[in-house]
Amino acid sequence: MPVVDTLITHAYLVLESRSATASERAEGLIDIEAAQQAGREIEDGWLAIQHGRVHSVGTSAQTPPEAARVIDAGGRLVTPGLINTHHHMYQNLTRAYAPAVNGTLFQWLTTLYPRWAALDEESVYLSTYVAAAELLLGGCTTSSDHMYVHPKPRLIDAQIAATGEIGFRFMANRGSMTRSVEDGGLPPKEVVQDEETILADSQRLIETYHDPAPGAMTRVALAPCSMFSVTESIMRATAELAERFDVRLHTHLAEDKDEDTYALEVYGRRPVEYFEDCGWATSRSWVAHYVYGSQAENQRLAAAGVSATQCPSSNMILAGDTADAQALRALGMPVGIGCDGSSSSDSANLWLETRGALLLGRYQHGPASMSARDALNMATLGSAANLGWDDELGHLNPGACADVVVWESAPLALAGAQTDPVESWLRSGPARPWHSFVAGAQLIDASELRLSGLEDVLTRHAAAAAAIQGLNA
Ligand SMILES: [Zn+2]
Repeated sequence: MPVVDTLITHAYLVLESRSATASERAEGLIDIEAAQQAGREIEDGWLAIQHGRVHSVGTSAQTPPEAARVIDAGGRLVTPGLINTHHHMYQNLTRAYAPAVNGTLFQWLTTLYPRWAALDEESVYLSTYVAAAELLLGGCTTSSDHMYVHPKPRLIDAQIAATGEIGFRFMANRGSMTRSVEDGGLPPKEVVQDEETILADSQRLIETYHDPAPGAMTRVALAPCSMFSVTESIMRATAELAERFDVRLHTHLAEDKDEDTYALEVYGRRPVEYFEDCGWATSRSWVAHYVYGSQAENQRLAAAGVSATQCPSSNMILAGDTADAQALRALGMPVGIGCDGSSSSDSANLWLETRGALLLGRYQHGPASMSARDALNMATLGSAANLGWDDELGHLNPGACADVVVWESAPLALAGAQTDPVESWLRSGPARPWHSFVAGAQLIDASELRLSGLEDVLTRHAAAAAAIQGLNA
């Protein structure tokens, strides 16, 4: 009788991605030697999956359990699934929208807001389905989504329906905007809501969908959009609601230089001071971008347990600045990785974003500052910390959720790469999953998505995108 559901053999297993520590380096160990000696990585290892969790792992010298299904990884790299902690999935309905592609962040936003006012349950369902499928193909197994445009009710319900059908692990972020153009904000009035509506819907979503239990497939976080589009009172009330229901808090913070001037004019404080005064400097908060904090502010937020998400492609394509991930990590602040909205970065591939984080880190601080393992650490344990979920996501130690990616062994991309599978994976490429599991269920098999509904969804998505972009008129 098989003991476990699935056994992956002959794998280069990364159980936990970390660079060599200072003491390991003092012993003369390079990253791969340190990782193998410490048991963070196993060459020619096996990993057993049972009931959606990592049952056990071992070396080729140890006997694995009997399994109903055995997958020979043939020496391929096996990592924890990558985790995306900042996205606006609905934006794939206006991907690479020609009238907006060369604008600044604010020009881009004001061009697109009127388009997004046409979102409805059907288009949001379709965009979430497409986003989850696209994320899976980039090695992602869990994503959050910051959904802050609500021209119609029940849009997050449609998102949760889509991710539930796929079997994709999802943290819905109930976003909100209260300040339209009439009140000095950026968005048109069709996409903002009043505070009572937002708070009541936030509570309804938590009570209906938030699953605090270990191994949950769906959780809910609360996420006012940014200080440009919400009032101070909804920031405070949201933090109180999150405390009451013990859910996470998310927002954009210190993304743009103009935010400093705006915050001083409107709130009489710097953005981080405002954030702190609203009751957000707690370990339940993670913030997107966080580029322009001062050294003292970085230290205060790190000490308070706030974590940050870097979105490399989005920062570069919008030609803004980017977080100093290594400096924040050195302060003890976890930094995760996000692809950001599909209309800004236009692609949602976490492997690509992880590589972007590696390139940006080295570009900022030199070649010794950041390794592939550091970048993978951000996309796994760092992102899991963003979601308050690093107990069971972001690593493959026994007991972890079985969110596992077996990466392709692409012969051309990896030709000549023989000394470090983790560095090869991120420096070469592009890398794609060969097999991918979420909660032990296989969603990618031999590089193909196992989603029977995808073709139909893509046809309907094309029609919905054309309608939102005004191309049918
Ligand atoms: Zn964003």
